[in-house]
Amino acid sequence: MKKQCYPFKLFKLPYAYDALEPHIDTLTMELHHDRHLKAFTDKLNSVLAPFPELHSWTLERLLCNINNLPVKIRTDIRNNAGGVYNHIYYFAGMKPNPNKSESPVPDDELGCKINRHFENWDNFKAKFKEYALEVFGSGYLWLVTDRRGHLKILCTANQDSPISRGFCPILTIDLWEHAYYLKHYNERAAYIDDWFSVINTEFAEENYCCCIS
Ligand code: MN
Repeated sequence: MKKQCYPFKLFKLPYAYDALEPHIDTLTMELHHDRHLKAFTDKLNSVLAPFPELHSWTLERLLCNINNLPVKIRTDIRNNAGGVYNHIYYFAGMKPNPNKSESPVPDDELGCKINRHFENWDNFKAKFKEYALEVFGSGYLWLVTDRRGHLKILCTANQDSPISRGFCPILTIDLWEHAYYLKHYNERAAYIDDWFSVINTEFAEENYCCCIS
């Protein structure tokens, strides 16, 4: 992912709003990107504006050093830099699925690692879904590596980011209701299944290789 710093530009979706249909609907994508992500991006810039010493800091640096930031902006940075960072992983972690019904399966190094750690892809999916259903309130569920390069399923609340806790992100699902309520209503399980149909396995593979290199 390209590193950027202040002023942060609104992340450009790498596909059209309707490209993930029928799994993720057009209106949800449009609102989620143009309103929710835009609000986090604008707010992050306005919080950073009076702090020129932070204008060369990347999202990663901000999120890895929250406790070194001026006290009065820590919460805003945590929520808004996190909001930008997490949504970029979420949006870039999906892509149109031309097969519609068949779910993509990671191969290469990440695929092998998942098979070693979770036995097989279906087991991984079942475990990930189980954890995603248990997330209470708003947050994200992630596939990450820990400092030793081991895979882990990790939940973060609100807009907290795994890098603030020393984990390296591979893939994430946004479990805030704004990510699915218009189409799936309260059926989070159906949303999770649909998300699995549009995951971007190349993006996940790339992230995994960065995490372990
Ligand atoms: Mn969201």
